[in-house]
Amino acid sequence: MAEPKQESLDKMWKYVKGFAEKSGTTMHPTPAVTEAVVKGLAMHMDELGKPLCPCNFYKDKQAEAKLRRWMCACDEMQIYKYCHCLLFVREDGLPITEYLPEGHEGREVYGVVTDPTPEKGRALKHKALAQEGNPLAK
Ligand code: SF4
Repeated sequence: MAEPKQESLDKMWKYVKGFAEKSGTTMHPTPAVTEAVVKGLAMHMDELGKPLCPCNFYKDKQAEAKLRRWMCACDEMQIYKYCHCLLFVREDGLPITEYLPEGHEGREVYGVVTDPTPEKGRALKHKALAQEGNPLAK
């Protein structure tokens, strides 16, 4: 199985640790979860030059990499503080869902999961309403 370059892995670990701190989230309590996602991000750095979210299927990765929405930290994280990869979670390993629109799959899967650090993260929260009718607000 292909492995990412060490340089890309180092870069992504640094980014992930920094973003967790900045957003008031933590990495998953099962290290293998975090390692798998960081590796996926590093593979995308090698392939696309961008940290495209590794937990989605893309019909055209190159085209998607030109957009902002699924660059880590993606729009869902920046707007709703929700990480469906479980990279940025609470200490109990659950993803924060309290800001997601009702009906979003994250709310259906996990119910309402509150944010222990509401003063941190959500740099794009002003876009939450604008997302209504957008696939991200499904
Ligand atoms: S869901 Fe968003 S924040 Fe989580 S790993 Fe994917 S791109 Fe990053």
